[in-house]
Amino acid sequence: MNKFREIFALVKVYPSSLLSNLVFNILNAVFSLFTFAAIVPFLQILFKIQTPALPDANASSSAKLWYQATQWLDQYIANYGQISALVWMCCGIVVLALLKNIVGYLSVMSIALLRTAVSRDLREKLYAKILRLPMSYYSNERKGDIVSRMTNDLNEIEFSVIGAVESVFKSPVLILSYLFTLFFLSWKLTLFALIFLPISGFLISVIAKSLKNAAKRGKSSHSDLVSIIDETLTGIRIVKVFNAEKQFRQKFDRNNDFYFRLMHRLYRREYLSSPMSEFIALSVISILLFVGGSIVIKGELGGGLLIFYLLVFSQIIPPARALSDAVFKINKGYASLERIKEILQAEETISDRPDPIQLNEFKHSIEFKDVRFAYEGKEVIKGINLKIEKGQTIALVGPSGGGKSTAASLLARFYDPTQGQVLIDGISLKDYELESVRKHMGFVSQDSILFNDSVKNNIALGSIGIQMDAIIRASQIANADEFIQKLEGKYEFVVGEGGNKLSGGQKQRLSIARAIFKNPPILILDEATSALDTQSEKLVQDAINKLMENRTSLVIAHRLSTIQKADRIVVIQNGEIAEQGTHDELIAAGGVYKALVEMQNFN
Ligand code: ADP
Repeated sequence: MNKFREIFALVKVYPSSLLSNLVFNILNAVFSLFTFAAIVPFLQILFKIQTPALPDANASSSAKLWYQATQWLDQYIANYGQISALVWMCCGIVVLALLKNIVGYLSVMSIALLRTAVSRDLREKLYAKILRLPMSYYSNERKGDIVSRMTNDLNEIEFSVIGAVESVFKSPVLILSYLFTLFFLSWKLTLFALIFLPISGFLISVIAKSLKNAAKRGKSSHSDLVSIIDETLTGIRIVKVFNAEKQFRQKFDRNNDFYFRLMHRLYRREYLSSPMSEFIALSVISILLFVGGSIVIKGELGGGLLIFYLLVFSQIIPPARALSDAVFKINKGYASLERIKEILQAEETISDRPDPIQLNEFKHSIEFKDVRFAYEGKEVIKGINLKIEKGQTIALVGPSGGGKSTAASLLARFYDPTQGQVLIDGISLKDYELESVRKHMGFVSQDSILFNDSVKNNIALGSIGIQMDAIIRASQIANADEFIQKLEGKYEFVVGEGGNKLSGGQKQRLSIARAIFKNPPILILDEATSALDTQSEKLVQDAINKLMENRTSLVIAHRLSTIQKADRIVVIQNGEIAEQGTHDELIAAGGVYKALVEMQNFN
């Protein structure tokens, strides 16, 4: 029941759809009943069934009504003839059928809105959440898995869960109005029939339980597949060059086969539920035929009414089945909802405290104070103290894996320190509104992140209202304007996925232009000239130098030649500051830095 409440919470934001659906369903049930009832006078005319005897005072209300109706019909036939009665009846059936189908259509239409609107809402919430989730979430979760949840699981909800909601709103209305009619016609027969319903209900619920677990396993196995496909596509060059196709195929086939077996089992169970419930239903009907037939033979019920009774009874079965299917669907779809909820409820560790401070202007300094940080329990920053005065350039150098990128991530508040604080102007980053802090920061990363959009939009990322002059000026400073002018469409040129229509150096200069355009006082730079040829390197280095002018910069330096002029060079090793000072001081000290410099063949 809890599951249903959760699923209902998704749809109850559209009360008018639900209400109109309910109203149309009630009308639908009423018109259906009248259509079936039309069979009775037909039989009366065709088989000339005798008019029932006048019921006594104790007779049931159905018997009295039956007597009245036949009286009236006999009278009509006596006055106007059988053919006239037949014509009127057929017209009546056509009108009823039309009305029934119109309300039927309106009822599905009101659900159609719900179906699409609920998945739109969920998709919107998921995407917003993905943008809010902290970086730590993405180191633990696989991209393919998240994509699979946002697509497949959402579809599952759209189809099975909302389908279930549809039958939950429709079937009970039909079942109740049919049951009411059945009791009205013959309560004896109906009581008898009801004994058989709980037995079939129990049988069906047993299968439903086993289906839920199988569905959840199926989903997670599908995510594994998507992840492998995603990884393969991302790394296809490497897979080919290293002849890893066979290895990847084996891994994929293994997962694919596992998924196949799981799904096969799932479908077997799912498909079994339909024939099973149909068989149970037919058995119940044949018992009814026997008991009902006996009642008619005893003269307690008109033969025409028994046919009407059986017609209505047979109509109970489809909604009852839809209702039992809904139990399956809810169990199957709930597995998807749970997977979506795992994302929606993931903890947002990086968020604003209540009533955060606005960073309006960066005035004095940035400070790392006794900062420690661990990824999942593994400490990689082990107590760093570092002060960067406004306007200074600080370079972080040291062996790879030492914690330089992590330190830069802490300043951008991708993560919060496990101990200690990162302060701007003496106030902890945690106390500021995150957006106001990031407004003051520029970030140029080692792998230039470009989006499949125009050059113009890539440079103006995050700002609203495109100022073309400023974009061009930023590109000129970044030494990018020259090559942009040669692109087809210039600033409108679409750079391709990840910027793959541009060279490495061009991509770098675009991301530098992006930082210049934003014009932030604080700059985090993961320097990446090492991967470029000498010509591009010069252009990029020159762009970087111009970018750093008049800013406070934290530079992760790979090529030590580029940061000689930094105000201070900080050597980070094993998560700690090994030494710091200017280039000359550190060379004179003859420590780690000197060794690193010598290793890079530079003096
Ligand atoms: P550097 O930038 O100096 O090369 P990093 O800051 O990238 O060093 O990494 C420091 C340590 O943290 C390394 O041992 C690395 O394996 C680990 N590390 C980096 N990122 C993650 C992450 N997202 N999850 C777990 N460990 C990480």
